[in-house]
Amino acid sequence: LGDSDIENQSSNIKVYVRTRPLSREELNKGESNCIHVSHDEKSLKVVEQGYGYNITTRSFQFDGCIGPEVHQQDVIKKVAMKKLLDKVLDGYSSTVMACGQTGSGKTYTMCGQEENQLCDIQGGDNGLIARSATYLFEAMKARGQNVSSGPKPFIMRASYFEIYTEQVNDLLRLDNAPRDVKWSSRDGYYVDNLLLVDCDTLDDVFSVLNEGSRNRKVGSHELNKDSSRSHCIMTLHIDSLCQVADDAPPITRYGRMLFVDLAGSERLKKSKSSGEMLKETGSINRSLFTLGKVISALSEGKKGDVVPYRESLLTKLLMDSLGGKSLALMIACVSPASSAIDETLSTLHYATCAN
Ligand code: ADP
Ligand code: MG
Repeated sequence: LGDSDIENQSSNIKVYVRTRPLSREELNKGESNCIHVSHDEKSLKVVEQGYGYNITTRSFQFDGCIGPEVHQQDVIKKVAMKKLLDKVLDGYSSTVMACGQTGSGKTYTMCGQEENQLCDIQGGDNGLIARSATYLFEAMKARGQNVSSGPKPFIMRASYFEIYTEQVNDLLRLDNAPRDVKWSSRDGYYVDNLLLVDCDTLDDVFSVLNEGSRNRKVGSHELNKDSSRSHCIMTLHIDSLCQVADDAPPITRYGRMLFVDLAGSERLKKSKSSGEMLKETGSINRSLFTLGKVISALSEGKKGDVVPYRESLLTKLLMDSLGGKSLALMIACVSPASSAIDETLSTLHYATCAN
């Protein structure tokens, strides 16, 4: 890392907050909306109704705040995903992460959803993954246009795995055998023996997404675990052939776009904490806590600061895609419901520390 990289790091991680609309169920229960996004979309207010007329208002600032009325198709623009994707085509790694309590919209933001229980959305539900893949396919086509012969200038492949209690499971090949995490000088920490699926079309990407989310559910039924308690990482790998000099053979660059759907950040009810549950909660807390520390160390970018990547499996596996020349986004998802205010505040505090 040169000095200039360290100085530039502060702008390499951006933090956004997205708040979803109240669900039909919440509306039926008479819940009210306690989040108000400012006009310039840079800050939001959380309004807490206390006893009597006692009202507390707290303000938070972020790189951007995405209100409940913002449709999926506009989210990709608001978070400036294009910058990350162009970087990937140039052979770097970029990461987008979604954090927040279960039910706040993390999976919806990343993957989208077919069936929808909320009132105010008409179609166009695809999430960031499908939209990013669409952009990448178009950009690969445009960039590859002047290469008429020889091997394909770009290859896209996808992998999908989950981290559950510090173990990695391949979501595309469900054999109940946890995968080993290894280290190499080219790839840093990586998951060994992970299935990589060739993706030539958007349909291929959808197949991977569907297979992954089906296996996430199947695996959780079989092993009696709660799928909201795992971190899921979907990666689009882009290998590009690059001609650095006229008389030299082309070199291959390995770009990667990571989509991280983090485990629900809610604190578990005490009554629920049996042995397994404690292990689960412990590992989620540790990885989310370490991720927060890593992001804030990178954002502050002080010279000589040690970034604590090695303190959790999640941050080890993200090591190559956070920091250095990579670009990263954290999207903190929050529920607008007044009954979720404690979890909402805790997510906003977490995201503020990362900001
Ligand atoms: P999480 O993955 O954080 O547990 P989900 O993404 O599954 O939460 O979202 C919970 C529910 O809310 C889903 O039914 C989803 O379709 C819906 N939802 C989440 N965010 C939005 C949004 N911005 N607009 C419309 N519906 C949403
Ligand atoms: Mg989810």
